[in-house]
Amino acid sequence: MNIQVRPTDQAPEGATHPGARPKLSFQAKRRGKAPTHLADFDLSGRKAALKEAGLPAFRADQLSRHFFTHLNVSPEQMSDLPAGSREKICGLLLPKLTEQSAAISADDGRTVKHLWQLFDGAQVESVLMRYPSRTTLCVSSQAGCGMACPFCATGQMGLTRNLSTGEIIDQVRRAARAARDGKLAGGPTRLTNVVFMGMGEPLANYKTVVGALHRLIDPAPEGFGLSARNVTVSTVGLVPAIKKLAQEGMPVTLAVSLHAPDDNLRDDLIPINSRWKVGELLDAAYSYFQTTGRRVSIEYALIKNMNDHAWRAQLLADELNARGRGWAHVNPIPLNPTPGSIWTASSKKDQQVFVDTLRRNGVATTIRDTRGSDIDGACGQLATAVQKKMKER
Ligand code: SF4
Repeated sequence: MNIQVRPTDQAPEGATHPGARPKLSFQAKRRGKAPTHLADFDLSGRKAALKEAGLPAFRADQLSRHFFTHLNVSPEQMSDLPAGSREKICGLLLPKLTEQSAAISADDGRTVKHLWQLFDGAQVESVLMRYPSRTTLCVSSQAGCGMACPFCATGQMGLTRNLSTGEIIDQVRRAARAARDGKLAGGPTRLTNVVFMGMGEPLANYKTVVGALHRLIDPAPEGFGLSARNVTVSTVGLVPAIKKLAQEGMPVTLAVSLHAPDDNLRDDLIPINSRWKVGELLDAAYSYFQTTGRRVSIEYALIKNMNDHAWRAQLLADELNARGRGWAHVNPIPLNPTPGSIWTASSKKDQQVFVDTLRRNGVATTIRDTRGSDIDGACGQLATAVQKKMKER
């Protein structure tokens, strides 16, 4: 018998009262802008900013190499800049954007989660994870999130504000530096991958995120020079923005947080589905693959008796195969067990049936490793926990 648990069977995760309902929002309350930072501009923009301040434009090259190659923001270590103008140059283009307010490590020191305080007190988090063949950073693109997914603590915080490109990129610089300096168990390593799966819906902060993608991919002195295929942008399904991203000429990996193949369930599970339906979303994802040649990741959190039925695995396979073969890779993600909540893990048997059904239909499927499960794994949970503790003080 198919038991069907609905997302509306209890108040959203992190809700402050039992009658709370998810509320979509695209517009943040007006707040001040983050201080201007070198990473907000491309190289010519940095040159123009220096020139405007009466400083030689060619210093932009040196400053950019300090930031993107040496991961350094301390004027005293910039001996190639004249001592007399170092402070002025750094003050102009390298303001401090992130202050560490908490750090927790897990997985025997191979995972570190940071909570950063921004200039206006807003807090965001990033997670650095070491795997045998890569080191990945999960970054935040917004403080809070307006997408209101009922299983996600960040969604209940609402959207505080969009991050600036500098604020996103400074999370990356700090992580690259921590990896280089051996702050993860296993000794010094290189940051190889960046995924936009932290707080926020990246495509709701489109222009800023595209700027950040350039800084990640463009070679020094423009940016860090990461491989585009090692950068992943995840979305709950902002269809027009997916279409736009396909035209940017940056073949980054697109990850679609689908979590349900039918509108009936997805309307309640991912509220943005009320605007763009599963069919439109998969069409946009397929055309992203056609334009960029990059296989699309389909993220699917397996939630007990909610979306883990074998018929849903079959429907998902049919929807993907109806558009083409080999263009998508499904990543089922077993949810961390939350006893007593509707958001709890599927049984091992149901997980296996789900995966087998997809594979039998020729769909590439890999169960995803959920890192940091012992340190508040899901996006937004650390920030919520810290805020709670602060309120309790
Ligand atoms: S799951 Fe992602 S998109 Fe949904 S509310 Fe949480 S942060 Fe936003």
